[in-house]
Amino acid sequence: MSGQVLVLGGTGEARRLAAALVAGGADVLSSLAGRVADPALPEGGVRVGGFGGADGLAGWLAEHRPRAVVDATHPFAARITASAAVAAARTGVPLLRLQRPGWTRGPGDRWTYVDSLDEAAGAVRDAGSVLLTTGRQGVGAFAGLTGRVLVRSVDPPDEPLPARAVLLLARGPFAVDDEVALMREHGVEVVVTKDSGGAMTEAKLAAARALGLPVVLVRRPPLPAGVEVVATVAEAVAWTKRLRWTGAGTEDGPSWTR
Ligand code: NAP
Repeated sequence: MSGQVLVLGGTGEARRLAAALVAGGADVLSSLAGRVADPALPEGGVRVGGFGGADGLAGWLAEHRPRAVVDATHPFAARITASAAVAAARTGVPLLRLQRPGWTRGPGDRWTYVDSLDEAAGAVRDAGSVLLTTGRQGVGAFAGLTGRVLVRSVDPPDEPLPARAVLLLARGPFAVDDEVALMREHGVEVVVTKDSGGAMTEAKLAAARALGLPVVLVRRPPLPAGVEVVATVAEAVAWTKRLRWTGAGTEDGPSWTR
């Protein structure tokens, strides 16, 4: 049993949460998938690499008995979120999902929601110039596009790119003026994004609005049932403070609950 809070990370929220918990005196271990070559590291302890599915994460939780797990991974990181729900339920470790809200359509926005990257690719197949910002994973869904495609990602994709792709490696936050200039420079006709939410990459939406451009947004995967969800770091910090000792325990050790 440890008083440690395990933060499943890889997002700005996760880094802000780790910093807030460390500032409050908590023992924090952040977990990163290890996908990004040069990740922004959170404060506190850090471990890197997958756990080996739900079974592996359950084994890790049973061995280390953290006080709680906060799943602050990206809204589209559905596999680790599903693993966390299964592993936490199995081991009795309290789990919170910290997930920022999706973006909200405003006046002047020309948004179309789709359910998958494949559907997004179909929606823009006739466009002459696409700004593709869905990240390097799954970019192969757009490989068949014949127009110009400006592919922006943090690290280079290892999936096939469209024939006329131009790769732009960049990490947010981005400014609206820069996004407008980028879209003008490349004659962008349509923007494709995941509904990631958050301020880091929101500027492209304001730029598209300013230029009157349509945006195709991929809907988020559903959350696992039965997991408490909060939208802000402050709510997640408050949740960790409400955890209390029950003394009940399991054969692996004592447990904490809400
Ligand atoms: P995913 O599909 O849900 O996860 C794939 C596998 O990567 C998981 O099954 C797990 O491996 C491992 N993994 C993911 N997050 C982990 C973490 N925080 N700590 C340890 N292992 C982790 O996730 P993804 O979409 O590949 O994203 C990978 C990471 O990048 C996540 O941490 C996410 O927060 C971050 N991220 C994702 C996106 C996105 O658009 N998907 C955008 C920005 C940042 P095991 O099964 O072996 O445990």
